[in-house]
Amino acid sequence: MSPALLELRDVSKVFGETVALAPTTLSIDDGSFVAIVGPSGCGKSTMFNVIAGLLAPDGGEVRLRDQLVTGATGHVGYMLQKDLLVPWRTVEDNITMAKRLTGRVTGPDRAEARRVARAYGLGEFLRHYPSALSGGMRQRVAFMRTLVTHQSLLLLDEPFGALDAQTRLEMQQWLLQVWKDTERTVLFITHDVDESIFLSDRVLVMSPRPGRVVADFVNPLARPRTVDTLTDPAFVDMKSRIMHLLHGGAS
Ligand code: ADP
Repeated sequence: MSPALLELRDVSKVFGETVALAPTTLSIDDGSFVAIVGPSGCGKSTMFNVIAGLLAPDGGEVRLRDQLVTGATGHVGYMLQKDLLVPWRTVEDNITMAKRLTGRVTGPDRAEARRVARAYGLGEFLRHYPSALSGGMRQRVAFMRTLVTHQSLLLLDEPFGALDAQTRLEMQQWLLQVWKDTERTVLFITHDVDESIFLSDRVLVMSPRPGRVVADFVNPLARPRTVDTLTDPAFVDMKSRIMHLLHGGAS
């Protein structure tokens, strides 16, 4: 059994009268891909911000490889729906942006940026500026920038939420390939139940007010995932159970 990379122990966060995150306990295995679904406002981003150390929780502990990291930063790669690329920098310079912000971009940093860009479909765009790229390509650059931080744990907050369905499926398959090659641990927030199942080893379902994890589904689907995965009876069964949890009797 893989050891836990990340543990939350009774982590909670309140904003004024709003319980954004009720006491939450979670264990995330090293190398796993865990999706989180839930309605808007159920505390998903709050949970990510607490894990990243951008928000101090009101109670509880965050542990990475059994080290206490509650309220500390610098131990995760974090990517948002908005790509936040710097428009006046090339693709290569955007990929190395974290190094630029924290010090100096070295020759090996540039070589690594070029290597990952070429390996994952961005090679011909290295000298392009973000405005010349499609939405999917921009998200690839944003993900590569996250990847070259060399963090084991990647927090992806709805990274494909603004993409059309066709591009989204391509990006999901692309992400699974990179994840497999680079052996990272991914926590992935999405509103899209299909996406949560297609990508993950586990799906955590959250409920609103107070935000909490109400179900934890182990995904039985084999890898690699393909378009056929989307019509597999196990996929349809898992989707039905998650949809009932999210929408109650409204289905
Ligand atoms: P989600 O990511 O699931 O959409 P959030 O974690 O962003 O949900 O928000 C959870 C709840 O906490 C919401 O009710 C939201 O309005 C509230 N909230 C989030 N951040 C703040 C903040 N900085 N100040 C006050 N309330 C906040």
